[in-house]
Amino acid sequence: MIISVASGKGGTGKTLVATSLAISLRDIDRVQLLDCDVEEPNDHVFLKPEITGSEAVSMVVPSVDESNCTYCGKCAQVCAFNAIAVLGNHVLTFPQLCHGCGACSYLCPEEVISEENRETGVVEWGHSDGVDFVQGKLTVGEAMSPPVIRKVKEYANNDDTTVIIDVPPGTSCPVVEAVKGSDFCLLVTEPTPFGLNDLTLAVDTMRELGIPCGVVLNRAGVGDSQVEEYCEKENIPILLTIPLDTEIARLYSRGIPLVEGFPQWKESFLELFDKVKALIDERNRNTER
Ligand code: SF4
Ligand code: SF4
Repeated sequence: MIISVASGKGGTGKTLVATSLAISLRDIDRVQLLDCDVEEPNDHVFLKPEITGSEAVSMVVPSVDESNCTYCGKCAQVCAFNAIAVLGNHVLTFPQLCHGCGACSYLCPEEVISEENRETGVVEWGHSDGVDFVQGKLTVGEAMSPPVIRKVKEYANNDDTTVIIDVPPGTSCPVVEAVKGSDFCLLVTEPTPFGLNDLTLAVDTMRELGIPCGVVLNRAGVGDSQVEEYCEKENIPILLTIPLDTEIARLYSRGIPLVEGFPQWKESFLELFDKVKALIDERNRNTER
């Protein structure tokens, strides 16, 4: 089972939920946490894993042999990402913008574009007291996080393990890459107009991808009731509510997972897991009919 933990924007408590869920499950299940928030992975701050291995992540970018180039401009025309330009008798490449699609080298009439590897990040793995752990780190200054996210997901356990994916914030390509293939997505939000706005975008994304979702309402007690009203109207279950509490914030700032600082929360996270499992089972039954 793969459960993603996402949020329309950063700072809503996604890491708190992902790490506490993983720690709560480790006594009853095999559990693996994949930190796909590769621009700013911070699950390790809470799990303090022992890292036992790593692999560099690279992508292919074009390299032009200008000695045989006719400067026809075909490569620049086919590049959808403006990552290659022909200016007079010069071909300029912008590796940071390149998506590694290979179209320019495939379509160059003179066959003078070759491909070279460029390192864009690293994947690390290890374990933390019963939780298998994998994280991706995008190299500072790089813009293309999907290849690093894909590589992290290659390390997902395929056996009888519950895999929890900490998804990057937002609703763009990295989010889609991270949640793809999930059985369920927990959307963490807060009861404010900003929280509602980002939640609606995240719900639209999950519906587009056909991934069932439910809400974890964090910092309940601030803001208004618009998130609850929206969830009721859209028939999206609120599966867990975490109150605004300075003690929880204090634990978080010290890198202590919620369920370790307040063990009584473990039961709530196990109940959250049971609800998610029931929703996945129900959906599978409906699909089989
Ligand atoms: S398509 Fe090939 S030949 Fe034409 S400008 Fe680009 S590199 Fe040069
Ligand atoms: S590989 Fe694709 S994205 Fe990169 S420069 Fe060539 S056409 Fe553009």
